[in-house]
Amino acid sequence: MSATLYIDGQWVPAVSGETRTIWCPADFDRQVGVVAEASAEDTEKAIAAAKRAFESRVWADTPARERGDLLLKVAEKIAERKDDFARAEALDTGKRLVDAEYDMDDIIGCFQHFGKLADADPGRLVDAGDPKIVSKIVHEPVGVCGMITPWNFPLLQAAWKIAPALAAGNSFVLKPAELTPHTAILTMEVLDELGLPAGVGNLILGAGATAGAPLSSHPDVDLISFTGGLVTGRKIAAAAAETVKKVALELGGKNPNVIFADADFEAAVDNAVSGGYVGAGLVCSAGRRVIVQDTIAEAFTDELVRRAEAIRMGGPFDESAETGSLISAAHRDVVTKYVEDGVAEGARLRTGGHWGGEELSGGYFYAPTVLDQVERGMSVLVEEGFGPVITVETFSTEEEAITLANDTEYGLAGAVWSSNRGTAHRVASRLRHGTIWINDYHPYVPQAEWGGFKRSGIGRELGLAGLEEYRETKHIWENTEPAPAGDFADPAK
Ligand code: NAD
Repeated sequence: MSATLYIDGQWVPAVSGETRTIWCPADFDRQVGVVAEASAEDTEKAIAAAKRAFESRVWADTPARERGDLLLKVAEKIAERKDDFARAEALDTGKRLVDAEYDMDDIIGCFQHFGKLADADPGRLVDAGDPKIVSKIVHEPVGVCGMITPWNFPLLQAAWKIAPALAAGNSFVLKPAELTPHTAILTMEVLDELGLPAGVGNLILGAGATAGAPLSSHPDVDLISFTGGLVTGRKIAAAAAETVKKVALELGGKNPNVIFADADFEAAVDNAVSGGYVGAGLVCSAGRRVIVQDTIAEAFTDELVRRAEAIRMGGPFDESAETGSLISAAHRDVVTKYVEDGVAEGARLRTGGHWGGEELSGGYFYAPTVLDQVERGMSVLVEEGFGPVITVETFSTEEEAITLANDTEYGLAGAVWSSNRGTAHRVASRLRHGTIWINDYHPYVPQAEWGGFKRSGIGRELGLAGLEEYRETKHIWENTEPAPAGDFADPAK
């Protein structure tokens, strides 16, 4: 029995007694741990605990500054235990230890951001146009928040939800991806150690369809915040519709990286390589679609291929590795099929398109891949293709570049490369994606909102909007000189 669910301030096993063994996807021989495998019954218990805690007001009525201070202490504790956290994340995901360390820095920054913001926006007075009326807008917590997160940035995606939810005074039930539970467990240890009241934060581990599903359908969950794939997002939104709960979705991206001929060639190529292959391309905002001006397309693609072929893959502790593994056999099959389908439809495989090779056969590695001669409508331009695969399209005019870049149902992120600021800003303003980088790729800060247009999601995380997601807005109207309304005649008078 593994007591790794955290419900109502207690570490408990699953009601069924079931467990799941976690293996490192970059090293099949390495068992990372054995954790509880929750069922819907455990999730129900966690939701009930979160509801009791919320209704007790123990956290909602804690002064906002004290809630913020707890988050600042979480940031300190994670910084103190950064090695444990990064190691756990790297082993669960197969990413490089150094990448997991960067993630921990981002997580620390996220807790600091929402820790500082907790009391920054207490509400406002509204001019009701009558001196005897006091009209004010106040913020209140939403209630019980369900959180479901993916395996690519396990704790970062959870932190984007936990930190604002706690800052705003909510209770939560977190269900991380079943393959990557360990940093969520460590985080609940930290919250427990810092004295978060019982029931305010709860952790459920297990499969999405069983342990996760009740969070979107349960009437006592007031908000469901989900990060993951589009197909799952649809199911969650549909399940949430029945109880009309608030829904926040951070879904995938088919992110265009638009390169004009006048861009700094070396910087654009290097960032295209980073954009597509950092973290094995398992980044929601990865630059999967290079859209390059025809006059430089051949030279640019040749260089991209040369650089992709030089990338060294390896496990979390291989210091010479530049990128890590995929997450599972099923995931490697999906990436393999995605590339094979593209080739069958007529795309040209310039490099990659195969597993990691003999030396890396002990992990789910997939070689950095470039496909060119792709055309609109091909599956490789429609499906997200969540892996280390870049497709190359070409354009001749600015208008054509914009049309191609927007030709996707997704709208998460994208980039424009040009030495002409006018061109860059004109194109940036026309791209229907939630984050646009100009002459850069990938950076973000917790002070800036993150989220998607179109089917990349609903709502925003980070920034100020990321806190507002976890707040209800209430209008309080006070008449300081009460008087009869006088709408109806009083027969006694
Ligand atoms: P996924 O949708 O398969 O799973 C995500 C989570 O949903 C997991 O915890 C899973 O257990 C759970 N789940 C699955 N079915 C469920 C159901 N029926 N009910 C409730 N929960 C269920 O996604 P993934 O493969 O883990 O993650 C990769 C995807 O996440 C990619 O599409 C990526 O683009 C996206 N992503 C988006 C962002 C963003 O900020 N927009 C960030 C990271 C990842």
